[in-house]
Amino acid sequence: MLHRKDGPLVNKVPLNDLSRAISRDSESVLAAVSSVLETGHVILGPNVSKFEVELSEFLDVNYVIGVASGTDALELAIKAVMPEGKDTVITAPNAGGYTSIAAKRAGFSLIYADVDSITMCITAEEVKKVLSPEVGVVVITHLYGLLTDFSDLIALCKQHDIKIVEDTAQAIGAHRNGVYAGTFGDAGTTSFYPTKNLGALGDGGAVFTNSPETAEKIKQLRQYGWSTKYKVDIPGGVNSRLDDMQAAILSRRLPSLQAWNERRRKIISHYREQTVHKKFLVLPAEGPWHSGHLAVVLASNRESLMEKLSSEGIQTDIHFPISDHLQPAWSASGVSLPNAEKAAKEVFSLPCFPEMTDTEIEYVGRTLSNLF
Ligand SMILES: *Cc1c(COP(=O)(O)O)cnc(C)c1O
Repeated sequence: MLHRKDGPLVNKVPLNDLSRAISRDSESVLAAVSSVLETGHVILGPNVSKFEVELSEFLDVNYVIGVASGTDALELAIKAVMPEGKDTVITAPNAGGYTSIAAKRAGFSLIYADVDSITMCITAEEVKKVLSPEVGVVVITHLYGLLTDFSDLIALCKQHDIKIVEDTAQAIGAHRNGVYAGTFGDAGTTSFYPTKNLGALGDGGAVFTNSPETAEKIKQLRQYGWSTKYKVDIPGGVNSRLDDMQAAILSRRLPSLQAWNERRRKIISHYREQTVHKKFLVLPAEGPWHSGHLAVVLASNRESLMEKLSSEGIQTDIHFPISDHLQPAWSASGVSLPNAEKAAKEVFSLPCFPEMTDTEIEYVGRTLSNLF
């Protein structure tokens, strides 16, 4: 317990606390698990098909294909949409490395485009600077939950016969004029990692698409490249299936997603209200085009702010501290991406999850407003 002179008692405020959602949902989780046991079908069974249909209705997209993780979803989506004769992926360097891992595993080369200094997302302008004839796919990550208006980028890609994959692992449920993140491009991907806005109780992911050909390819790729049992019809297949237990849990969580996203946006708005005159910036998360995944601060004095918050019992973390092009295992020497490099030095994340109590939210807000 922290004893604050100027407010109520608060426990340490964690960046995230999954145990709260688990205890809140314990009855429905047990019901989900027993419903799977009743079917006797634990791999690509009726609970996976049911959830795929539910998520496709929610996103208003023709096909959803459940896979084993968000990184697998990216790998399979990139493989499925890469045009014949091309082998290069353009993406942002500031999104945690998942797209880089996926593209490398798929056997493709990477080119990084710099991001906008406020949205933290790639733009048509930045992609234009690094275009080359080998580029077949652009992966746009809707980072921290923000679905930018990227119509310019879509137009640019169309012009050059480049396919778009949207990584919505942080932005599920975000939409612009009713069009959901993940359904603007040729394929969308997401992760059901437990800390995501729509989290399972284990690993999971999905690919979305409106194209029947892409959907069919993803279905084959997730299961060894089989067209029918034991017949490998396309190369590049893997074993990457969404688990029925996770699907049954996700079915029960999906109806609450928008309310949870709204709660996340409220938390971030409160932090912003408390810091309007500060030298650091809490990035905005207002409107349905933002899922409120992370409450991110931009600060030139990041280390001292994080230390001070830690001494007040508030946990923080950095998403993400190393740009992909500077990762020791991958370094792409000679590349300079100033906005992404600056962001990697200045961003940090505050506690933000739907189960935070009002007392905790106010305590974090008050502590921020008292920071130097
Ligand atoms: C979490 C995350 C992923 C990867 O998801 P996993 O299920 O952990 O593989 C991919 N992209 C982004 C932006 C993420 O935040």
